[in-house]
Amino acid sequence: MTESTIPTILDSIKEMCDWNRRPEDNLLHCSSDLLGSLRHAQLRMGRAPTREASLGSEFRLLSGSIWHEQVADKLLLQKILRVEEEDWVLNLEDVEVDLTEGLPEGWTGTADWLFWNGDFNAYVIGDLKTIKGEGMRYIYANGAKAEHMAQVSAYVHALASFPDVGSDQVMGKFLIVYLPISDAPDLDVHPTVEVCVSMDKDALWTMMENKWQATSDWKLEWFETGNVVNDRLAPPMERVQKAYWNTSRNVYELKLVPHWTTQFCLYDEPYCDCRDQGTTKIGEFDLDGAYTPRSGYEGIEAEVRVSDLELNKRRSAA
Ligand code: SF4
Repeated sequence: MTESTIPTILDSIKEMCDWNRRPEDNLLHCSSDLLGSLRHAQLRMGRAPTREASLGSEFRLLSGSIWHEQVADKLLLQKILRVEEEDWVLNLEDVEVDLTEGLPEGWTGTADWLFWNGDFNAYVIGDLKTIKGEGMRYIYANGAKAEHMAQVSAYVHALASFPDVGSDQVMGKFLIVYLPISDAPDLDVHPTVEVCVSMDKDALWTMMENKWQATSDWKLEWFETGNVVNDRLAPPMERVQKAYWNTSRNVYELKLVPHWTTQFCLYDEPYCDCRDQGTTKIGEFDLDGAYTPRSGYEGIEAEVRVSDLELNKRRSAA
């Protein structure tokens, strides 16, 4: 081997990131596409060109994969574990369980862990989420995130539809373990086990079928016209409402801001422009929580509220 063909240490690490990226399978993924942007999934399938991902986000993904492997190895060694929250004793049956067969057409998904609960004679599905320490604030206050609940609920219903399993052998409750991978200021950061109840199957399946139908329609148009950006491409994600404390005016300003996932999106125009949507103030809450819309935005209803806890905190500091 000549000196010039010897890879550098950084080349080798970059190779690990490349290996960690899953190849495109032309399917919708329960882990990202259930409540995520359909446009994003379609652009991914259409192999629309992206900007290069930052090394930081590549490492974030890689560290998530490494944690999944490490925890799975540990569980495989121990085989039996206790879930204090429910007083369950679970036996580990398998890790990385492919549930695609039980999902609606066009969808794929893999559960991190499958346990057997001998007291109930039923399987329990578990999933691991690595998360920034700052993100744990939301989990401690609200429990599991909606997109994670939807993802693992789909796994529960998929497993229950396996011919050799049956719905009475799958528990409607499942586990999501949140593993923080950094600290956060003024927060006692620690992992949590969230025991969740699965969402209604009919509503979930209808949403998944609709998304796949929209994807199939878009694909047809793409194949016919050769254009990934065609009339059937889903619209960009709408902005979401968020309340921000304004220190100088002692009010919470309600704003429309781009969805949080857009900061990680690598598509530029003409594929998508939702990262550049900007922020618009649409109203404000006073310290009693009363809402006043901004002039010209009276037609938009406030969908978020400021909690009593937050208001009390601000009132006592004012
Ligand atoms: S910019 Fe937003 S809507 Fe557009 S593809 Fe990315 S995540 Fe989806």
